[in-house]
Amino acid sequence: MFQLQQQQHGPEEEHHFEQDSLPLILVPDESNQLGLPMQFPDIWLRDNCLCSECYLHQTRSRLPQLWQHLDTKRIRVYHLNIDQKQEILYIEWNDGHRSEYPFCWLRERDFSLANRSHYLQNFYRPEPRHWSGTEFALIQKEFLYQDLISNNDELQQWLYQLAVYGMALIKEAPLEFDVVRHLCNRVGFMRRTTYGEEFSVRAQPGASNYAYLAAPLPLHTDMPYFEYKPGVTLLHTLEQSDSPGGWNLLTDAYHVADILKQQYPEQFRILTETLVDWADIGNDNQLEFHNIWRSPVINVDADGRYVRINHSIPQRDSHFNVHPEQVRPWYEAMALFVRLAHEQAYEFKTKPGDVLTFNNLRLVHGRTGYADTEQNVRHIVGGFLDWDIVYSRWRILQRSQTADK
Ligand SMILES: [Zn+2]
Repeated sequence: MFQLQQQQHGPEEEHHFEQDSLPLILVPDESNQLGLPMQFPDIWLRDNCLCSECYLHQTRSRLPQLWQHLDTKRIRVYHLNIDQKQEILYIEWNDGHRSEYPFCWLRERDFSLANRSHYLQNFYRPEPRHWSGTEFALIQKEFLYQDLISNNDELQQWLYQLAVYGMALIKEAPLEFDVVRHLCNRVGFMRRTTYGEEFSVRAQPGASNYAYLAAPLPLHTDMPYFEYKPGVTLLHTLEQSDSPGGWNLLTDAYHVADILKQQYPEQFRILTETLVDWADIGNDNQLEFHNIWRSPVINVDADGRYVRINHSIPQRDSHFNVHPEQVRPWYEAMALFVRLAHEQAYEFKTKPGDVLTFNNLRLVHGRTGYADTEQNVRHIVGGFLDWDIVYSRWRILQRSQTADK
């Protein structure tokens, strides 16, 4: 990679460039503890000029003028001046345009690997850490409902815990129907689905949805049949069954995917590549629906990171639009996934006032069966949040916390 040679001229440094000068601008920064200069591609600096012709401060966004006549081959720095005392980079471009960039703005956007990694992990999204069933006690974290409602640091910690470990338990919530809504409103707003906003889970003989029966509920993710699957599930226990059953099961399916990837690469490949039809047909509150989404069980992005797990036995469609030869190998791989998910499950029983919150793109959850009688009821109120809303709130809290220091 080409680099501009900087010459020391005291606090002010001046450089002139020819038509085909070099593409990476290095800006020495005395505050850098390793003594490394900040680095910026020249065309990026031109695109991100902060003058009123190029940038609208009130919306914090770029104006489109440059792109009406952008010639990517010809844009070059003509003259560069670094004022180390004022901490400002001045650039005159070969088309005569002039730009200036304060160091405080440049530092946050430095293209060095260290700065990019720091930004991605501490501001874009915290790095997830996968856990096995036996590690559950180590990663599990409890929050008090009232703290989340009244304290922003606690709120931030909750969202961080959800992002990194995918689950958190909230204790001592009032036994009221709107607890889930209050929590969602602290973050942003609830996600509405075809089943409305809040949903009640209690045994209903002849129920329209399998979750509304007292029979065991095998491990699953909620609503795999949506392209935009709800990101975070919140389950508030209002009443808990005194029967020996009704235990919650929770597994980090990203850990299950890790096991498959390492020990069963062929089954891993099948579960990441085979498109499965997920579906839900029915009606709720006079809305008739037929939802379908085709997607693998383990979804991986271009960098090989897991982005979503789909699994629900009742909500896997009988339509399976793959080549017939792919079918049995898929069943074999899926049976392995289900066995591992059960082996890695952690079992616990929520109490009235508990709100179980977890990443619905990542964890699979279930419940053991329970005996429901008139004296022995279980009543859960659930709701959803979307990850866009969760990460956004977390960043706002993260930014205000950094600003306080
Ligand atoms: Zn400009």
